[in-house]
Order: sequence, then C-alpha cells, then structure tokens
Amino acid sequence: MEFTHKPHPAPVPGETRAQAIADPGFGTVFTDHMVRIDYDEDQGGWHSPTLCPREPIALDPAAAVLHYAQEIFEGMKAYRHPDGRLALFRPDANAARFNQSAERMAMPHLPEDLFIDSLRHLLDADGDWFPTAEGGSLYLRPFMFATEAFLGVRPARKYTYLLIASPVGGYFKGGSRAVKIWASRNYTRAAPGGTGAAKTGGNYAASLVPQAEGIENGCDQVVFLDAVEKKWVEELGGMNLFFAFEDGSVITPPLTGTILPGITRDSLIQLMREEGLQVREEPYSIDQWRADATTGALLETMACGTAAVVTAVGTVAGPDGEFAIGSGGEGQLTTKLRNRLTGIQRGTEPDPHGWVMKL
Ligand SMILES: *Cc1c(COP(=O)(O)O)cnc(C)c1O
Repeated sequence: MEFTHKPHPAPVPGETRAQAIADPGFGTVFTDHMVRIDYDEDQGGWHSPTLCPREPIALDPAAAVLHYAQEIFEGMKAYRHPDGRLALFRPDANAARFNQSAERMAMPHLPEDLFIDSLRHLLDADGDWFPTAEGGSLYLRPFMFATEAFLGVRPARKYTYLLIASPVGGYFKGGSRAVKIWASRNYTRAAPGGTGAAKTGGNYAASLVPQAEGIENGCDQVVFLDAVEKKWVEELGGMNLFFAFEDGSVITPPLTGTILPGITRDSLIQLMREEGLQVREEPYSIDQWRADATTGALLETMACGTAAVVTAVGTVAGPDGEFAIGSGGEGQLTTKLRNRLTGIQRGTEPDPHGWVMKL
C-alpha cells in the first residue's frame, strides 16, 4: 500500500529537540510525526496509510474503545548502529504478536508488511530524534483501537492503527541495578482463558492498583502469581522472569495463556541454550523460590522485556516477609546476557540469528 506523506508544517526547532533528546527519561518526549492507518469493514478493510504530524485525534464519544476497551499495542525499539544506521530487533516477531493480540480482542489483522512499512516511514521521517543520551534508543509504540460509534456489545467495524515514537534513556531511574519486587496476594493479572497473553491496555489497567500496593511496600515492581492456586510465579506487570541455579539450569514459567510471550524472553532462551545452559519452561512456585534463595541453590532472578532489557531481581517482598536472591545485587549471568543482547541490538556484536533489521 502507498503511504501518503504530510510533513509537519512546524516541526520542533533543532535546538529544542537537542535539549529534549539529551536526557529524555522514559515515555514523555515524542517525535514530530506519527503513522495513521484506518480500517473500515465497509471500505474493504485497511486504507489510506499516512505519515502525518503527531497531533491529538478526534474520537466520537461513543467510540467502542472508550467503552469496551478493544485496544492492543506493541513496544519495540530502534537502535543506532556504529555505522550510523538505525536498526530494529525482530520486528517480524512484533508484527506477528500484534496479530495474535488482535485475534484475542476480536480485532482485524494488520498485514505484517504494512506494520513493518509503518516503522520504516516513521523512522525515516524522525530519525533526528534519536537520543544522544548514553544507552538511549527510539521507543516505538504501534497500537490499534476500535473507533466505531456504537454502544452495543460486539466487535467494532472500524479501527485506527497509530504508530508514535519516543526517544528514551534507561527504563529504571538510576541505571541498571537490582530491583525489589512485591509478590501480591490480593491481586492477580491474568486468569486461564483470559487475556493475559494479549498485549492489551486492560491488563495494564488491572495492574495499577497492585503496583501501587507494591510501591507502598517499598518495591519497584509487582510479581504476579497464578490466579487459580496463587502459588505459581508468572511474570511482572510488563516483564518475563528467569531463575538461574547453581547447577547451570535455568527455569522460566511456561506460556500457558496467562503470560505474555515476550520477544526478549524468547531471545534469551536461545542465547542461554547456545551458552550450554539448560533452560526449562516449567512452573516454579513462590515457596520454592524462597526456599532456593535461602539455601543458595538459586543464584539469580532476571526480569526481561524490551523497555528494561534484562534486570536483576534482588529482593522479593510479600505479606509474609522478604527474601534476597544471591547477594541482593546484580549477578554475573544477568550482566552477561544484557551485554550480549544489547550488543546484538546495537550492532557491536555479531547477529548469527538474523534478528536485526537494518534500515
Ligand atoms: C510486553 C510485555 C512483556 C515483554 O515483552 P517483550 O517482547 O520482551 O518486550 C512481558 N510481559 C508483559 C505483560 C508485557 O506486556
């Protein structure tokens, strides 16, 4: 499909932009443009892809997304390689997952090449927004929502896909360090048969109250247990988990439908297996976690996702007290995997899997 280009008539002046990208933080600075593609069942589906100025959008007050939350999104990053070119990491996997989320939320597929083209057009227009901050990247947020004005409960017939970009520094303030996480007993994130495997805003809305509970208890993030037995460790609000043991084995919770299938998770499984580590996708209970941390059989716990890459979990707290993992700081495997993965993403290490798409 041909994209129409409507360049911004008054882009942010270079000097203001330079200031904004020197220390952008996370998710508060945005580039000049966005991509918009509309879907209308009565017009044969997706039509008129456009690169246009980033600006507020008009929505009918009855737009289905505002009432029944038909919405999905993706989170990915563009990296600057040493040769100056921008690169994406496994964008095909994000495109595929976007469509899996769409299916669960009764939304239309977006053709994968249209998804990838949207990224190309926006990065082409707004590459100057790449942050100058150390370790920075251009965070990309593709999302789709139901726009049909209709209050009946059924899948909408009209949708809008938007892609916006945000220059970002590190995710956690203060750089990489071990985080303290709160094991919530009062709240769960996803039930069997629910929407836990879809990247949809509602999962995040439901995580805000437990997140506040965690912060009240001095923690950075929440770890969710399974909704049935409240026993099995699933994931954080936006990151998957790995447990690394003394004997060289690693466990990560299996994808049974209540966990988001992270692309970082999948990449780390492959990298660890290549290193000779035995990675098992199997359930791991909170009681076993505490016991293994106490005996020292568990060396490290890692949280992973696009935003924070690979982060050490140093301490786990809950209503029954807390326990530390290893020294309570960042372990060797966490550091090694983060360096390996960011090396591939940023083009300073070989990419034997063909994960990187240079633009
Ligand atoms: C996005 C997300 C992740 C991480 O996925 P990546 O593809 O690695 O960025 C993990 N858990 C949840 C709930 C998420 O929404």
